[in-house]
Amino acid sequence: MAAQEKKWGDNTVFVHAGAHPDPSTGAIMTPIFQTSTYVQEAPGVNKGFEYARSQNPTRKALEEAIAQLEQAKHGLVFSSGVAATDAVIKLLSAGDEVICGNDMYGGTYRLFTKIFSRLGIVFHQVNTTALSEIKKSINAKTKLIWVETPTNPLMNISDIAAIASLAKENGLLLAVDNTFASPALQQPLTLGADIVMHSATKYLGGHSDVIQGALATNSDTLREQLFFIQKSSGAVPGPMDCFLVLRGIKTLGLRMKAHSENGAQVAAWLAKHPKIEKVYWPGFDTHPGHAIAKKQMKGFGGMISFELKDNDPAATQKVLAGTRLFSLAESLGGVESLINHPASMTHASIPREERLRNGLSDKLIRLSVGIEDPADLMQDLANAIG
Ligand SMILES: *Cc1c(COP(=O)(O)O)cnc(C)c1O
Repeated sequence: MAAQEKKWGDNTVFVHAGAHPDPSTGAIMTPIFQTSTYVQEAPGVNKGFEYARSQNPTRKALEEAIAQLEQAKHGLVFSSGVAATDAVIKLLSAGDEVICGNDMYGGTYRLFTKIFSRLGIVFHQVNTTALSEIKKSINAKTKLIWVETPTNPLMNISDIAAIASLAKENGLLLAVDNTFASPALQQPLTLGADIVMHSATKYLGGHSDVIQGALATNSDTLREQLFFIQKSSGAVPGPMDCFLVLRGIKTLGLRMKAHSENGAQVAAWLAKHPKIEKVYWPGFDTHPGHAIAKKQMKGFGGMISFELKDNDPAATQKVLAGTRLFSLAESLGGVESLINHPASMTHASIPREERLRNGLSDKLIRLSVGIEDPADLMQDLANAIG
């Protein structure tokens, strides 16, 4: 299937992405090429594979699949989502400036503020749901806009197409963290973004059994630069992990449909519960980003955050400790449901004052709604909420 030429429906693409029968055996699944090097016929004469930090056939199949999923020309995979983000920031030099969200994944925040800031890259954290806020921070040194939408954990929605136009007008790159939506629900390159980033650990892998990251782009230049960074910095995934993500992708369409349907039911149920104060889910028409979400997403997914009315921290702790089907754990996007307390778990690296300023309260509970029977999930939450 030629890149960028979308002939098939999404589910067909997901099942067949990157899949070619193995030429030596006909094996329908790409083998796990567990090798560090490749024998050369003569010095410099090889089959396109020299050393496995640079090339691996299992990884190549997955990189092709990632490109097809995002309707991109190129895909690149990394040993984790943060390693993929790290590679994007390494496109820049000391003195360059980045505009990013003030409500980002905690690990992205940590990488930007604790590592790259120290190396001389300047980050402006703004509310990316407001175009005017981004505009205000653009100056002659700005090189990149980094957007996460929907955000983790507040489910804020930024307008990818509008930000892409603003980036183009100002000669800036736009990178979008598409982890929460997955390519089944949102394809940022088709909306004008230059780079898409994924924590493949989440929905792409889908089974909570692998750590991996991915990038996709249509630009040959960016692909060359990112490949150079990938091989120079060395954060590459092993072939077994590539195999697991390739397998996960085959059911991405079915899983995202189930996550979105269950998410809709659980969100509506929570919103009606007398003990719940607020539910954050972009599928509600009362959500401030709903119109944009409807425009740029094919579904609203299974990520939901909520707060109890009760301000006593013990009440929140009781819910977190009281579920049986929702396991208390970091991460998201697996077939099984998870419950998480961002303030003390996934987002603990953000200082409390900063968290509170950006609307992330100590009461906030985040759910990754899995693909179990929704009635069981609601019963489980009912038992825990009491
Ligand atoms: C998990 C996550 C990451 C980081 O990915 P890892 O695979 O854990 O390194 C980045 N962005 C978002 C939105 C995430 O949820």
